[in-house]
Amino acid sequence: MQHVATPPALDGDTSRGPGRISGYSYQAMAPRTLPAPWAEAHDLLRRRGLRWTPQRRTLVDVLARTDGHVTGAELVERCRAIDPTTTPSTVYRTLDVLEAVGLIRHGHGADGREEFHVLPGGEHGHLHCSSCGQTWEIDAVETKTFVAGLRRTRGFHADLSHVTLVGLCATCAARA
Ligand SMILES: [Zn+2]
Ligand SMILES: [Zn+2]
Ligand SMILES: [Zn+2]
Repeated sequence: MQHVATPPALDGDTSRGPGRISGYSYQAMAPRTLPAPWAEAHDLLRRRGLRWTPQRRTLVDVLARTDGHVTGAELVERCRAIDPTTTPSTVYRTLDVLEAVGLIRHGHGADGREEFHVLPGGEHGHLHCSSCGQTWEIDAVETKTFVAGLRRTRGFHADLSHVTLVGLCATCAARA
């Protein structure tokens, strides 16, 4: 199962060529040399009954080099730039397992798309400006009154990681 870091074949589909991920360099790493906790991904997947296939290893390599928020489609694209045989179903199924073991966590962008947080820190929601398209994180302290109020008046336990408020940021609001 030696994975050799050859440049990705374009496979007739130039839209998925390496040019689409400029600034993103790839070099295959052996599982044991991945930074913690990604070195454990191999064992975590096996314990869940998933084989450590080249496709899954490519996804873990990509995730280990990813910061912040990333959509499933972006992950599929990055994997396919490395290994054109990557199938979206394998990526999404592996993402489900990696979320179950706590290595990633999903929320939803303003358009409802799943966004993955790599090595999630504290639970947080998001503010999305519908004018400039920027997104900011809001933490449990900022949303305390809102979340506690919903629990008190409605008995509703809000999942902050699924809260995305859409509106205008201060800069855009000042221009409007
Ligand atoms: Zn969800
Ligand atoms: Zn804005
Ligand atoms: Zn976030």
